Amino acid sequence: MQRDLPTPASALAIAAHPDDVEFGAGATLAKWAATGCVVHHLVCTDGSKGTWDPDPDLAALVAERQDEQRAAAKALGATGEVVFLGWPDGELDAGVRQRWQVAYWIRRLTPEVVLGHDPWKRYRLHPDHRHAGFLTVDGVVAARDPHFFPEQSIPHHRPSALLLFEADEPDHVEPVSEADVERKLAALESHRSQLRSTMFVDPGSPDHERQLEAFRARVRDGLTEHGALAGVPLGEAFKAITDL
Ligand SMILES: [Zn+2]
Repeated sequence: MQRDLPTPASALAIAAHPDDVEFGAGATLAKWAATGCVVHHLVCTDGSKGTWDPDPDLAALVAERQDEQRAAAKALGATGEVVFLGWPDGELDAGVRQRWQVAYWIRRLTPEVVLGHDPWKRYRLHPDHRHAGFLTVDGVVAARDPHFFPEQSIPHHRPSALLLFEADEPDHVEPVSEADVERKLAALESHRSQLRSTMFVDPGSPDHERQLEAFRARVRDGLTEHGALAGVPLGEAFKAITDL
């Protein structure tokens, strides 16, 4: 198990939905941001399915989730761009048009490290997570080669590492501190519209505080499990690909 990359100058985290980056790599990004890394977010879908309300105002939900994603990035300490591709939630495809966009943003933001969903995670049900993972991998390949999408008229860019979160076969752990965990939790809780559906916290319930503590404990348990893979108290595990 490898661990602890040197803090990159910049990182781009690519997600299917608002909140995926915070779940998958929030503590790592908080750690890097605190030591000078410029952290960028790229969110592929508009998050418009992220509600249990049977009759939602979709335009308002999309705008709310974008605001939440910007607040979450700030809570991590991220100072980079927060980009939304705006594909309909639940209908993300890993086609050439989407790959073109991901490659464009990798070239434009020139991240040293790219992070994204592991597309090879077995038995993963949500197609957006699978497709966002393939877009991350395929976008890196397209961005690094000058003959892919030459009409973009921006120099090609080869990141030095790709970290896949929710990894099927993790081989790399980023150790994180209590302070990084606090920032990850603050970022996750910035996604207020997702408290009920994803974090099982009902803000209207008298049991709200206990539900919130249970959510925080689940996140912390995950970080403890991931850290144990590398013999550290707290960490986030990834599949690392460094021969890009
Ligand atoms: Zn998601």
